[in-house]
Amino acid sequence: MNKISRRHFLKLAGAATALAATPPLLKAQSVSGRVVVVGGGFAGATLAKYLKLWGGAGVAVTLVDANPAHVSCILSNLVLTNSLNLSQITFNYAALQQLGVNFVQGRATGLEKPAGSTWRVQIAGRTPLDCEHVVLAPGIEFQPVAGWDPNKVPHAWQAGAQTTLLKQQIQTMPAGGLFIMTIPPKPYRCPPGPYERACVVADYLKRTKPGSKVIVLDANPGIVAEPETFTKAFAQTHAGVIEYHPNAALLAVNSDQRIANTSVGDFKADVLNVIAPQKAGALITSAGLTGTGLWAPVNPLNYESMIGGMEGVHIIGDSQGTGQPKSGHIANAEAKVCADAILRAFAGEAPDPAPTTNSACYSPITANTASWLTAVYAYNPATKTMDLVPASFGEAASPTRDNYEDMFDWSANLFADTFA
Ligand SMILES: Cc1cc2nc3c(=O)[nH]c(=O)nc-3n(C[C@H](O)[C@H](O)[C@H](O)COP(=O)(O)OP(=O)(O)OC[C@H]3O[C@@H](n4cnc5c(N)ncnc54)[C@H](O)[C@@H]3O)c2cc1C
Repeated sequence: MNKISRRHFLKLAGAATALAATPPLLKAQSVSGRVVVVGGGFAGATLAKYLKLWGGAGVAVTLVDANPAHVSCILSNLVLTNSLNLSQITFNYAALQQLGVNFVQGRATGLEKPAGSTWRVQIAGRTPLDCEHVVLAPGIEFQPVAGWDPNKVPHAWQAGAQTTLLKQQIQTMPAGGLFIMTIPPKPYRCPPGPYERACVVADYLKRTKPGSKVIVLDANPGIVAEPETFTKAFAQTHAGVIEYHPNAALLAVNSDQRIANTSVGDFKADVLNVIAPQKAGALITSAGLTGTGLWAPVNPLNYESMIGGMEGVHIIGDSQGTGQPKSGHIANAEAKVCADAILRAFAGEAPDPAPTTNSACYSPITANTASWLTAVYAYNPATKTMDLVPASFGEAASPTRDNYEDMFDWSANLFADTFA
């Protein structure tokens, strides 16, 4: 992994948003069609927005989400430590509605394609929605863990009520207490996110509950993202507070006693945070869109399902299985590639043959310093995969106050590009 300068990072971080400024349809022509988008997170909200921005009045876009507003996971670790509150990372769909997106609050339960007809999306308690293209962006689901009750032992890996619950538990933990967290095997949502959480919680406990410790039980053989940054943060910045155990696969949980049973032993916590193993959102799995795997195989030129008979069904964001990281920034970039491809399909054109995407994650290390990670992916026509561009992959030289400030500029841009 490269150590990349701040200036180079800002250039890379802008790569994916470049598409936003470019009219996608190369010919001046109007298109028409109907698209139903399920999931109004970073992937689905961006897609709905850009279909309307680029497609115009002829494209009918309906966005379905189970909730009236989306609570961002990005920056949610800072809610745990009182640096932010949930309302600062909660976004409704009013701006998208102003652009002409039809927002429906409801839970999608399935999809079908009656012979000779278009797609029909079932919504619990509502009239089904018909369309030519369906885009599914429901995020992640957790794999079952024996004995685990998230209402007692929160994951806080889908932001909202879970974040509030974990925050309350941390804040009522006694001084000298033990905060234990588990990290699932990769791939999982936000590769650096768990290590970031260990750092900000450790920093908070040092300031407010002296003598407390953070134990990190990682199912992976080593730190999955920004290894240099987090190795140093655990061993130096938070020395004596964070204790890191690799190869610690979670086997079961005693939710009442707050005990994690792992492959390296049993650990009893004052506060237990289980970030369980993950898979594609429930709707994707129940529709048979993962095949025999955990994530949905898709063609990265248009994010259309590669499962037979599912033409016109696209999967973007954390549920997709292209091997790109599961991050909000890259979900936003995938959405633009997908929106462009759907509009081209309405115009009878093939998708862009050479899409690129990029990802960026900022990781607070203390209450006023942060690190970051970035990577660009480019389509490889030989393998039909999105491949990492090696020179683009890197992490910050060191956590700094400047990075901490930049984190809020970067996230404000991403939030605005997605929801405003
Ligand atoms: C602590 C933490 C820190 C992170 N930090 C970063 C970061 O710095 N940078 C970064 O790029 N990424 C970060 N991420 C990752 C990022 O949050 C996710 O990758 C991103 O949210 C994925 O977007 P998505 O649209 O696929 O899913 P989500 O954002 O989860 O959106 C899914 C939406 O679908 C809706 N939904 C689900 N099922 C249904 C259904 N059946 N019917 C209707 N609606 C449904 C949900 O209500 C939700 O609104 C972080 C994640 C965590 C947990």
